[in-house]
Amino acid sequence: MNSEIIAVGSELLLGQIANTNGQFLSQQLAPLGINVYYHTVVGDNKLRLQEAVIQAKKRANLIIITGGLGPTKDDLTKEAVAELLDRKLVYDEPSLKQIELYFQNSKRPMTENNKKQALVIEGSSVLNNDHGMAPGMAIFEEGTHFMLLPGPPKELKPMFTAYGENYLLDNLNEKSIIESRVLRFFGIGEAKLEEVLIDLIEAQSNPTIAPLAADGEVTLRLTVKHDDKKQAIFLLDELEAKINARVGKYLYGYDDTSLMQELVKRLLSKNYKIASAESLTGGMFSQQLTDYSGISEAFSSGIVTYSTEMKEKLLSVSKNTLAEYGAVSNECAIEMALGVKRICEADIGISFTGVAGPNHHEGKDVGTVYIGVALPNGRSKSFELNLSGTRGQIRERSVKYGCYYLLKEL
Ligand code: ATP
Repeated sequence: MNSEIIAVGSELLLGQIANTNGQFLSQQLAPLGINVYYHTVVGDNKLRLQEAVIQAKKRANLIIITGGLGPTKDDLTKEAVAELLDRKLVYDEPSLKQIELYFQNSKRPMTENNKKQALVIEGSSVLNNDHGMAPGMAIFEEGTHFMLLPGPPKELKPMFTAYGENYLLDNLNEKSIIESRVLRFFGIGEAKLEEVLIDLIEAQSNPTIAPLAADGEVTLRLTVKHDDKKQAIFLLDELEAKINARVGKYLYGYDDTSLMQELVKRLLSKNYKIASAESLTGGMFSQQLTDYSGISEAFSSGIVTYSTEMKEKLLSVSKNTLAEYGAVSNECAIEMALGVKRICEADIGISFTGVAGPNHHEGKDVGTVYIGVALPNGRSKSFELNLSGTRGQIRERSVKYGCYYLLKEL
């Protein structure tokens, strides 16, 4: 089964919003064993939308169209498709009642164009909209399935999950499923990872291996197609074991996780409280940590000590250390971590000091960063990094390295 997703909306073409509906649908179709070969984006223009549908029909037997089901003049998806299929638009009574009820309950007058939202293509299976007004619909015509879904993601996602997916399962004869697993690595570059795995990558067919690098991390997406789910998972496990035998020490998580999320999980599961002392990262570590609800169990405090003077005053970094080694040094990082751990009565202290740039500092190069950790067992150590990139990237990567080192230590 080959599918094409057509997203309708001039705001997509203008770059005002990204096509997250396309991304979501692709993610949903893969496990159903449906290939997605094309994503098309077209503006709110009937003729161009019809051209896109005609084109898609030549290469797909499932065409999913998102957006343009609303009440306004530029919402013309169902009109365009109905015309192409030579079918009429008819009112779907339950949807019409739902819209009328909405206006009654909100005590607002219902304008005539709102009724238009209850129109569906004659002969289609209606997909109820539990989070909005315009229903979706699915039609089968001359060997092609068409599915029309609303644009707003908060309507499209639940509609697809509750009704769209079932329609596809009932109507498609696809037996094989696609299983994907994303392996997330940190501390190894994309080129190095590829070099180490080159024979596996070159020999790939089923499962496939797709590397992707972003923000100092590398991911490998393993994808397998099989008609037996157990066997599919076995094949993924087998390939993952081969990969991990070579680069497993860099693997930190799976699928949609992040280094910070893994650190939060680890701290909570081990019942540790952490405190942070930040210089070049200016509170970024504690800000990202506090993105997670429930973190009060694991985070005691974060102190930003940007000036050398405050490192001494607030964290008790010794005068000698600062005079002899400077604020950007292994020694200072360790004392910062020990200081914040003691002052905040935490189990773990972490510190960040370094040169984010663009100017040198204390004779140290831009990108020189020291991360100190004071651990629950009383040990403390510091890691030296020589990072490249912009000021923002250096700060972001420092935080990631901080999480990575702690994950390795805990
Ligand atoms: P409405 O009743 O809100 O008009 P609609 O089905 O007509 O719904 P559109 O008018 O095309 O949908 O889009 C409504 C909003 O949904 C857009 O302004 C945008 O915020 C969001 N949206 C539309 N298409 C996409 C898409 N492909 N990806 C992400 N968001 C989208």
